[in-house]
Amino acid sequence: VRPGGTASVPHDQLQSLVTVLDGVRLGSAQTRPELVRVTGLGRGLVAQRVNELLSWGILVENGLGVSAGGRAPRTLRFNADAGRLLVANLGVTSITAGIANLAGTIIARHHEPHDIAVGPEATLRRLEEVFDGLLAASPQDAPPLWGIGCGLPGPVEFATGRPIAPPVMPGWDHYPVSNRLAERYQAPTWVDNDVNLMAIGELRAGQAQGARNVVFVKIGGEVGAGIICAGRLHRGEQGAAGDVGHVAVVDDKSILCRCGNTGCLEALAGGHALGLQARRAALDGSSPWLAARLAEGTALTSAHVTEGASHGDPACVELVVSAGYLVGGVLATVVNFYNPSLLVIGGSVAEAGDRLLATIRQIIYSRSLPLATRELRIVRCLLGPDVGTIGAAFMVIDELFAPATLAQWIAVGTPACRPELGRSAHAA
Ligand SMILES: [Zn+2]
Repeated sequence: VRPGGTASVPHDQLQSLVTVLDGVRLGSAQTRPELVRVTGLGRGLVAQRVNELLSWGILVENGLGVSAGGRAPRTLRFNADAGRLLVANLGVTSITAGIANLAGTIIARHHEPHDIAVGPEATLRRLEEVFDGLLAASPQDAPPLWGIGCGLPGPVEFATGRPIAPPVMPGWDHYPVSNRLAERYQAPTWVDNDVNLMAIGELRAGQAQGARNVVFVKIGGEVGAGIICAGRLHRGEQGAAGDVGHVAVVDDKSILCRCGNTGCLEALAGGHALGLQARRAALDGSSPWLAARLAEGTALTSAHVTEGASHGDPACVELVVSAGYLVGGVLATVVNFYNPSLLVIGGSVAEAGDRLLATIRQIIYSRSLPLATRELRIVRCLLGPDVGTIGAAFMVIDELFAPATLAQWIAVGTPACRPELGRSAHAA
């Protein structure tokens, strides 16, 4: 079959291929006898599927495994270097990009400040320069490009990879981000909301590994949540699930949100809002600490508020605590409604100090039903700024290895140079 061809494998053959591949890839088996045991497939069938996967270079043989009597079996390993991925997480004020292997490990990274409000043309041109630079800096014998994953700080229609009416991304509405990157790099491409990718990153590489019902909450410039349901990301019908930043928390028409509504959580407790409140507290004299920063000629941001709070400036403490009350109140509703076992809190504001997390914790435990909080853990995200790009890598890996997508490329052994694979999204 020619590379890039459209050969497909019969359904029954695909099922056993996926079963054998996932057995090794997801770590439940390392040898042929173990595969027979964990999959329930016959020895002959396992041997045949393993040989196919070895011939494509998707599995590789290592040394010898533990003998159960007789000759020790050779161990099998998923070849995380069969292909590589370009990954990016675009924030409102930054670009984070990298190259990942097929195990979701970031092997090259780049971070720079960037204003997403300059629009899709200028932003994606810059992202492409960053991607080109990362590819150019790779070794000559680097694996082929298998896919691209990108996060955006707004609602994304997952099936088409386009942002839809994003509140903080002027000019981006309906822009075909996925198609543009797929065509530029001739690679299957998936685009999702940044918080959804952070939730995937936590689930696959962070503290949420093995958990089934998880909510990842981002408190950065914007506020949002990603929902893991029964071990998988729950995107909802269009991809908007978890957008808690625009829940109305006060009935006050003077609190304008960037989404066009009033009284939203994000307009009171997001990092952007905290920056505006900091400026007010500096100018009205309520915060000597912030007034001193402003006098130094610094543009005040949420980082100054969290820093001031850790220095004990009463007005900064007040701002952080009231943000914590509002976020905690909405999250208590989320906990009652959804009953997760784990709540992971990340984003630049949440990571800046303990006081916000402490307040959020206190409100959730006091306002949620006892049954919903009995086994609930609330933790801070520890993956740092890579969480979004790690999630982007796993999004692409999960899509490439979803049976319906795998069926379209496994017969030729590689999804490289197949941009059309990204055009239909499968994951729930
Ligand atoms: Zn809003």
